[in-house]
Amino acid sequence: MKVKCKHCLPKEGIEVPAFSLSDKNRLFEIKQESSIKTVKFLMDNYKLSHLESKYITAHINDRYGKCNRCSFNDLVDEYVNCPKCGALNFNWKVTNK
Ligand SMILES: [Zn+2]
Ligand SMILES: [Zn+2]
Repeated sequence: MKVKCKHCLPKEGIEVPAFSLSDKNRLFEIKQESSIKTVKFLMDNYKLSHLESKYITAHINDRYGKCNRCSFNDLVDEYVNCPKCGALNFNWKVTNK
């Protein structure tokens, strides 16, 4: 699936692998710990480039429904561009322990 963010490079967006729910949970957890680890994990386990891994990591939401870039707090879709600021959000509904 192709995603785009008007605030980030590359402008044409990137192709995102079809992450399973357990992938999402895992990535979310690692990101809570460290973004650098998340980038490395993506490169090692999904054969993604450094750029793609950084791009994905930067857009994983820290909280469901809340835009990563602005105060918008009502995102409903999973891979969504914020209606307020246009930023891409990986708005994953993960189990937050
Ligand atoms: Zn972005
Ligand atoms: Zn926003």
